[in-house]
Amino acid sequence: MKPQLIAIDGPVAVGKSSVGSLLARRLGYVFFDTGMMYRAFTWKVIKSGIPIEDEQKLCQLANTTKFDFVPLQGWHLSPIIDDEDVSSKLLCSEVEAHVSLASKIAGVRQTLILEQRKLAQRGKVVMAGRDIGTVVLPWAELKIFLTASTEERAKRRHKELLKRRENSSLESVLADLKKRDEMDIHRTISPLKPAEDAIIIDTENLSLEQVVDKIYTLAVNL
Ligand code: C5P
Repeated sequence: MKPQLIAIDGPVAVGKSSVGSLLARRLGYVFFDTGMMYRAFTWKVIKSGIPIEDEQKLCQLANTTKFDFVPLQGWHLSPIIDDEDVSSKLLCSEVEAHVSLASKIAGVRQTLILEQRKLAQRGKVVMAGRDIGTVVLPWAELKIFLTASTEERAKRRHKELLKRRENSSLESVLADLKKRDEMDIHRTISPLKPAEDAIIIDTENLSLEQVVDKIYTLAVNL
């Protein structure tokens, strides 16, 4: 029997979203990238003018925020915040510079995790993030942790930015990526790490399709 829940975790720009989306389409599942939800909330924090360090206010804001999901391309779900689709605003450098600060707050995570679990109740879900296998869905039948060197991930992210016609040097992409990884790995709550029963896939020398093939084979042979 195919797994109802597949968790894909890993560091910045390792390809979780591309892999997860293709995998979900192939399996006939839905895909949700929890990173986009943390980004959507961060966007709201920035817009509200609340200082990102004000933990109490951020928790209150999370509690009074309405979270939802809409299909972006049928199977690929996108976060909706207070009935607004903000997906086009979430990849900017301002959100990127603040998101790891907002997401290290326990109360904020609690609220977002509840919503992520509600979504998972539908079943047939591929969910990507940092703590899906360890905290959000430790009962997921298949847990994958993707890795690649920092340099390779920076190259991939840089290529993606160029495709979107965003100007930034490889050096600055590498520096931002290291900074965010550092915060995500060393925070006390839900740090980025593989679940004990996660299957680790080193994607360094694999194509996107090869990574998807590997996970698909694992899923259908579970
Ligand atoms: O995956 P992405 O780079 O879009 O995630 C943005 C940020 O959201 C991460 O750097 C991390 O701080 C936070 N995040 C998290 N837990 C998740 C997903 C993302 O803390 N499950």
